[in-house]
Amino acid sequence: MSVDVEDYFHVASLAQSIHRDSWTSRESRVVDNTHKLLAIFEQFDVRGTFFVLGWVAEQYPQLIKDIAARGHEIACHGYSHRLVYEQSPEQFHEEANRSKKLLEDITGSAVLGYRAASYSIVRRSLWALDILAELGFVYDSSIFPVHHDRYGIPNFERAPHRMSTPNGKPIVEWPLATAEFLGCRLPVAGGGYFRLFPYWFSRWGLASINRRDLRPFVFYLHPWEIDPLQPRVPTSWLSQFRHYTNLGKCEERLKRLLDDFQFGTVRNSLEKLGLLSGSGSIR
Ligand SMILES: [Zn+2]
Repeated sequence: MSVDVEDYFHVASLAQSIHRDSWTSRESRVVDNTHKLLAIFEQFDVRGTFFVLGWVAEQYPQLIKDIAARGHEIACHGYSHRLVYEQSPEQFHEEANRSKKLLEDITGSAVLGYRAASYSIVRRSLWALDILAELGFVYDSSIFPVHHDRYGIPNFERAPHRMSTPNGKPIVEWPLATAEFLGCRLPVAGGGYFRLFPYWFSRWGLASINRRDLRPFVFYLHPWEIDPLQPRVPTSWLSQFRHYTNLGKCEERLKRLLDDFQFGTVRNSLEKLGLLSGSGSIR
């Protein structure tokens, strides 16, 4: 189970309508929404991995302490939510490093995992994996092995695996969940897909990864996805559809999901798969 900890105004699909300079003056809802998620996870005795945006950690360090204190894993979601392929390698290095250090200072524990804003590690930005390995990240969960206008490496390996970065450094990659059906890959990883598709479809797709592929899957959600009362941002039809559809149904669906499947942190799951050692290094 993974949560990308960011506010509704950080989201890539609303980025055209929300200027970064306005972030600090907007009504922030990330603290309350994350606490709501923490209470739901507590109810189902689930621990997950929280990929935290550096910007959020800087504004609300106590929130990060609260997440860690409940036994969840803290991982890194970059600093400013800029897409990787819109950054230079130097900018990416600076932001990933800044965010990792910030999170480690707050929690006092090493941050092992990274997830890029809007899954923006694609073929032309695979260089980012070199920088992540250099900074001491041992796993990444940013690659979506599907076709999409903003992200995706369509033919990428679907299972969690150890791989070599372009410069030959080892890193573990856990791609976002896809189900395979009649030769097609169906994104069932969570987020917008979880809200747009009916629950039975997500359940079927995720169960097929467990039963047919015999392995765990990585699921994601954002705190703003269980907040139907968040301020509405005027934007394009497509962005409205992606961001606002079924926000009111998401919390109930999440509870059904937590009842139907067993979840853990990314780190623990990778340890169980034999891809990470107990000390957090790559096997
Ligand atoms: Zn994000």
